Amino acid sequence: MKTNRTAELSRRAIFGAAAATAAALTQFRIRDATAQSTIEQPARDAPEAYIERAFELRRQAVDSGDQAYGATVVKDGRIIGQSQSLVVINDDATAHAEMSAIRDAARRVGRAGLRGATLYSSSRPCPMCEAAAFWAGLDGFHFGRGIEAGGAPRLCG
Ligand SMILES: [Zn+2]
Repeated sequence: MKTNRTAELSRRAIFGAAAATAAALTQFRIRDATAQSTIEQPARDAPEAYIERAFELRRQAVDSGDQAYGATVVKDGRIIGQSQSLVVINDDATAHAEMSAIRDAARRVGRAGLRGATLYSSSRPCPMCEAAAFWAGLDGFHFGRGIEAGGAPRLCG
């Protein structure tokens, strides 16, 4: 009898842990859901369109209570990754718009290396994001309304 009760408690503990894990995974999927949606491509293949999208994401960030930044990753005339800042939403100090856009592109492409791609962001990328662009192998980056060219990403900004 005692053994059965112990076994029952053990089953409940295992079930509880599994339920908690499933809940955590569900939450992660919800937070990560944007990475699975199709990226709507701009009407024209032009730097202005990619910067405009970055500013749309910046507005989205503000509307959702996050920091006012947005970014896109572009390759061969297509936006292959994009994100608003997710620092507040994801409780992640590294989830700057540029870092999140690079992650988004890498997940969609299915590899970490993004050689041949260019980063467009609403503001000049911070040293962390420029380093991320360097490690991802991006060819260059542009930022701001004036579409200022940042050149090839470097490790120390
Ligand atoms: Zn940054």
